[in-house]
Amino acid sequence: MFVKLVCLVVVFTSQYALSQDDSPYPIIGGIFYEDEAEALKAALEIGATEFHFTTSIKEVKERGDFIKVSELVCELASEGVIGIIDGLGGRVSENVQALCDMLELPHVLVQQNDLDAKDWSVINMFPSGEAFNMVLESLITIKEWTNFTILYVKGHSLSRVNHVMMMGNDTDQMTISVRELTGDDYRDVLLDAKDNGYLNFVVDCPSEYLELLLTHAQEVDLMSDDCSYIFVSPDLFTLDLSRFRYGGVNITGLRFPELTILNEKLWAFVDAFNNMTAVPVDAAELKIKALLVYDAVNVFYAGVKTLNESEKRANSVFGDKLDCENYDTWSMGATLLNFMKTNKLETGLTRSLLFDGTGQRNDIIIDILELTPAGNQTIGTWKYNTTRINRPFVPTMDEYGEENIMRNKSFKVLIALTEPYAYVKESETELEGNDRYEGFAIDLIARLADMLDFGYEFEEEADYGSLSNGKWSGMVQKIREDRADFAICDLTITKERKEGIDFSTPFMTLGIGILYKEPSKQPPEMFSFMAVFSREVWLYMMFVQMGVATVMIFVGRISHKEWQNPVPCVEQPEELTNQFSFHNSVWLIIGSVMQQGSEIAPIALGPRIITSVWWFFTMVIVASYVGTLVAFLTVEKDVQPFQNIEELYNSKSISYGAKKKGSTMKFFETATKPTLQNMHKRMLERGWTVAKNDEGVARAETQNYAFFSESTAIEYYTERNCDLMQIGELLDSKGYGIGMKINSIYKKYIDDALLKLKERGEIQKIKDLWWKEMRGGGKCGEKQAAEQSQLEMKNVIGAFVVLGAGCLFGLIASILDMLWGVFKRSVKYNTTYKYELVQELKFALKFSGDVKPVKRPPKIDKSSSEALADVKETEEAKDEVGSLLSARTLRSGKSTSTHASSHSHSSRHTSQSLSIAFAKRRKYS
Ligand code: GLU
Repeated sequence: MFVKLVCLVVVFTSQYALSQDDSPYPIIGGIFYEDEAEALKAALEIGATEFHFTTSIKEVKERGDFIKVSELVCELASEGVIGIIDGLGGRVSENVQALCDMLELPHVLVQQNDLDAKDWSVINMFPSGEAFNMVLESLITIKEWTNFTILYVKGHSLSRVNHVMMMGNDTDQMTISVRELTGDDYRDVLLDAKDNGYLNFVVDCPSEYLELLLTHAQEVDLMSDDCSYIFVSPDLFTLDLSRFRYGGVNITGLRFPELTILNEKLWAFVDAFNNMTAVPVDAAELKIKALLVYDAVNVFYAGVKTLNESEKRANSVFGDKLDCENYDTWSMGATLLNFMKTNKLETGLTRSLLFDGTGQRNDIIIDILELTPAGNQTIGTWKYNTTRINRPFVPTMDEYGEENIMRNKSFKVLIALTEPYAYVKESETELEGNDRYEGFAIDLIARLADMLDFGYEFEEEADYGSLSNGKWSGMVQKIREDRADFAICDLTITKERKEGIDFSTPFMTLGIGILYKEPSKQPPEMFSFMAVFSREVWLYMMFVQMGVATVMIFVGRISHKEWQNPVPCVEQPEELTNQFSFHNSVWLIIGSVMQQGSEIAPIALGPRIITSVWWFFTMVIVASYVGTLVAFLTVEKDVQPFQNIEELYNSKSISYGAKKKGSTMKFFETATKPTLQNMHKRMLERGWTVAKNDEGVARAETQNYAFFSESTAIEYYTERNCDLMQIGELLDSKGYGIGMKINSIYKKYIDDALLKLKERGEIQKIKDLWWKEMRGGGKCGEKQAAEQSQLEMKNVIGAFVVLGAGCLFGLIASILDMLWGVFKRSVKYNTTYKYELVQELKFALKFSGDVKPVKRPPKIDKSSSEALADVKETEEAKDEVGSLLSARTLRSGKSTSTHASSHSHSSRHTSQSLSIAFAKRRKYS
């Protein structure tokens, strides 16, 4: 402290020594937003006092008020300022820029802006987007990320990450996604990234959004050791990040000022700053904008000094009073600006103040910081376009050894008798004090007390706390009025409550769900036996039956052995018959499906193979069908009256409600969606709200009532009431935290301890105990999906494949059989192979006529060979029908009559006349 004071005195006395005359000082104009004005004004005043300027500061109330901003710039010009420091940023700065260009007044920006470099009158104290892109690219490369998500806030420029977005283009080895943060709830965006497995983030958002983003990231569990962040804003490490220190999350950020004891200028500035502002800050907590305002005054000072020297002026240069309406210009403006750009200042709060011709900063040095269990650590620097990482030794928590201020203290802890957070213990003896209670919250506080070595006493409070007519109630009120220290139960962290009390880091995450009865059962349908197979399977089965029947007919017709003597007692039949007619084939197929069989029995190898695989196929299908049929005939179908909140809203018969004074009701009350607003109105008007969760659960069980409750409660009740279930998706996502006084000095100890418990999985263990084991838990754990699912094609495809292969195999066997038969016949009858094959196929493919005349060999010579023919014919007929002696008579009526006539006919002929008749019928009829 002494050193700092000495420095302050030295710096100021040296500056005052420069001012030798009493003449008024040149004026520097400042234009800032009202809500930031205190800090920026202080920085400007400190600079002005030090460098001998007077100031004229204008404040703008509303962001983006172009008209007001233009008016104020012209006002400043009319006062004769030598330049304007613009803390506004965004599009209005373009307005300021245009006016400054016209008036030829130097315009100095102190925040990221994309004003075109060609604009002559601009000096940007904030490092260019180019520089940020370079630092980020090198950090991403060092971290060896292969995927990351860029988070940016809607309406803000992406110029600091535009090159980073293109990093994956060259190699294809990087997956980069970009998400926009809108509104004041970033949880959905973060959850979405998390669900997609993206755990590395580049966050480019202005400092005012950082706190909300960090909180929401923690609430959706994105602050654990598998998550990694690079923050673009140089203000990140001005925030209190201690609550994330032990979670293992990797947070990297940037800082401009050199925060060492040697930086005397900075310490002097901090002291002066704290004298002028209401809330004192540390050097590390100073926002970049304030530092840049001071540095901007320094740049003005150097510019004015050089200008005076070059003009050999005794007195300082003063601005002209300019009138915007007359398009006045300041004759010295361009020269001053030129000197401001070309001067080389090595001693700014944000290190050297060098600029290029376009007014962008040159040769900047940026510190790279990382959050470690020991706090914020500088791990490297970015200098002359290169990143050097020089990670220091990070002591562990114990070596760090911070004083535990909770030790040996006793606290009053508020609990609510809400299952399973706190119950009154069932005991035969009368219990006293804390022993009277058990439950999740009781176990959790006991663990924290063990870790942090404090004592506690419970007090019951049923009302969690809400704000009505400006007055807090329940737990929140008691904490605010110092009547209790902590509140632990299913206390939801809400925006409203956060204005009244502080919360620890969330120990559980949840969302609002709908608790409703298990779907009612519908009696089985009349044709439920059809439901065993899906429509697809039935169609395929029909198709397969027709297909196999066709193959059977064909195979039967080309198989030599299937042509049988219809009358076994006749040794030389005129015709042969085939059992594989259309009717018989279909009958065989259906008989097998029905497991009844038929008298048709294949004789040849091919038909036998096909019949066997068909029997196998039917066996598998019938077994699957019968096995599943029972379930379909007995299981009743579930009917859910609604699937989501919209359907519930539109339902006329179902009432719904939530806990009266809880955050769930607040969710509906503050919702902007008309459906939710109407639901809130209905719940209140129709008295559908309940005082406690138990009441809502009882209503859901006994009435046609849907209970809106938090997913944690739904999980608890559905473990015990097996008739209840959660319907639809969760409506939001949030967390439970331990409530404590605003700015509580115990918060960081509780947070650290909770994070440790989380990391060790202890919170989950306590949860499992109270949800799934104690007090009736686990009752419905083995809930089975009662609904039997239909057999789809994927369940029986194997049988179809076997059938297909078998048919193919049988077909090949029959074709080979046929080809052999054709060959034999062509030799026997002395015809060509092709002729016999064509005849055979023509006959087979006709698919009609199950009677085939027996072929006879050709007459070689009509006169001389008659006797020989007789002998041959007899042998031929014998040969062809030799195998038929054991053949059976077919039952087909048509066949039978044909046989009968053939038989009577043949018996009337001699062998000679038979041979003539057959010779005439060489061709198959
Ligand atoms: N956890 C809620 C709260 O903190 C109570 C239960 C509810 O509203 O569903 O208010």
